[in-house]
Amino acid sequence: MSERHTAVPGEPGTATQIPGTPAPSIVWFRDDLRLADHPALHHAITRGAPVVAVFVLDEESPGIRPLGGASLWWLHNSLRSLTASLGDLGVPLVLRRGPAESIITEIAASTRAGAVYWNRRYGQAERDVDTRIKATLPGSDCDAQSFAGSLLFEPWTITTGQGNPYSVFTPFWRACNAAPLPRNPYPAPTAIVPWPGQVATDDLDDWGLEPHSPDWADGLRAAWQPGEAPAHKRLHDFLSDSLGSYAEQRDLPAENVTSRLSPHLRWGEISPYQVWHATREATAGSPGKGPVRFLTELGWREFSYHVLFHAPHLATENWRPGFDAFPWHPLDETALEAWQRGRTGFPLVDAGMRELWRTGTMHNRVRMVTASFLTKNLLIDWREGERWFWDTLVDADPASNPASWQWVAGSGADAAPYFRVFNPQLQFAKFDPNETYVRANIDEWGTDAYPAPIVDLADSRRAALAAYEQVKGAK
Ligand code: FAD
Repeated sequence: MSERHTAVPGEPGTATQIPGTPAPSIVWFRDDLRLADHPALHHAITRGAPVVAVFVLDEESPGIRPLGGASLWWLHNSLRSLTASLGDLGVPLVLRRGPAESIITEIAASTRAGAVYWNRRYGQAERDVDTRIKATLPGSDCDAQSFAGSLLFEPWTITTGQGNPYSVFTPFWRACNAAPLPRNPYPAPTAIVPWPGQVATDDLDDWGLEPHSPDWADGLRAAWQPGEAPAHKRLHDFLSDSLGSYAEQRDLPAENVTSRLSPHLRWGEISPYQVWHATREATAGSPGKGPVRFLTELGWREFSYHVLFHAPHLATENWRPGFDAFPWHPLDETALEAWQRGRTGFPLVDAGMRELWRTGTMHNRVRMVTASFLTKNLLIDWREGERWFWDTLVDADPASNPASWQWVAGSGADAAPYFRVFNPQLQFAKFDPNETYVRANIDEWGTDAYPAPIVDLADSRRAALAAYEQVKGAK
């Protein structure tokens, strides 16, 4: 047993009630693995009763998408960090694996909880789980409440004049900026009253979320430090060192000026409220291009969730139904594998795909180029690329990943027009002019060992445009 915990390992149902102790509040941690600016935790503490902290790894509820390998690695380390932070305040984190609905209701019943609080998620399957739990709990005098913690603007609050969801980013973001300012972040708790009873918990190491035989995560360990404190350090470093040059240099993969906050935001180790307010405070009086551009990127995250909320099958279905008739090539496994392994013979594409494989991330500009290459030069369905990114990105996000893939493919909301086929060689010349990024990621670059191109750029571009003619004009 390698995890330190005061909760009791064992089977569900071993929990006890404590006579004379107020009915505890259960705080259900999900995509919000932090203590500061955690509305559910804040309200539980304010309620005044002891707290039971729970995380459920739910891979069984209908429609829940299983996490990819890189996400599981991140989750393991983030849970370890959260366990330690809660432990410092004397609160064990109860870990359970299985369908959330039965686990949460069982813990609520066995502890005679007076409240179950959580911060909202926006996927349909996740919302369905929450709705069922909310419907079950009140019967037992238990206050089930959800809070806004992961988005600055709840998707149903930002609508067009006609009350419809936005499908174009610019007016969406304008409407967000005209809405009331995002609330201030809640402070980190300095004390939490732990529930004195015992609740069965799993051992994190028994979940086997980290890879072994083979252990492919060395590159991830070298590149990242999951957890709330590292997330804040990253934000702080970004604001002091890079925000000023962000607008001019964010497209240059060798420059490393972007925040690299995406996996921390994905797992809620830091909240967008914290990022928003810290950015505005850091630039008070001198807004400049950098902060405006950076907050606009946060806006794309908001927009992706807005789109997901209104189009729940975003990862599997074209947002524009007209794209259902798109003549993707029958899957060429050899070409797909060359793309996945960074062996296409196009240096910027290959550097990006190798960066992804090694470190679990890829620069945004290069994500666009690699996605364009897959969907246009290889005419491989965007869903293949989305699945690969889902498995290999540490920031694999249920909204931003499918929304961005559909944006590149042309099938999505406010998408890049399909006829915009990136030329990976021109992109290489423009965005990595000194070949710094390519050299850092392709060991054999410049030698005979580097693969020859797997497609002709001009021919494949023509084929892509001809294919697009078949759906052009369809909604
Ligand atoms: P910064 O430039 O510092 O931006 C700050 C934050 O804004 C990011 O951390 C992120 O939360 C958000 N953001 C920035 N750009 C975008 C964008 N275009 N769409 C949505 N949010 C954005 N981002 C993910 O977080 N998860 C994904 O799974 C993901 N998949 C992508 C797939 C493709 C094909 C493409 C083209 C983009 C994808 N993105 C995804 C968006 C973007 O590439 C990353 O958010 C960004 O590279 C993360 O680096 P950063 O934190 O340094 O970003």
